[in-house]
Amino acid sequence: MTYKCFNCKDEIPEKLIERRIICPSCGSRILIKTRPEIIKKVKAL
Ligand SMILES: [Zn+2]
Repeated sequence: MTYKCFNCKDEIPEKLIERRIICPSCGSRILIKTRPEIIKKVKAL
């Protein structure tokens, strides 16, 4: 799971914010959890 900064929209790996929830790029504390997109296969008729 990765996080995304709300301010600069930079993706932050989970390891970087184990202790501090803060963006290393801009210092914003507002981070959004991003879930990996699940690609569902659509059955072709
Ligand atoms: Zn940021």
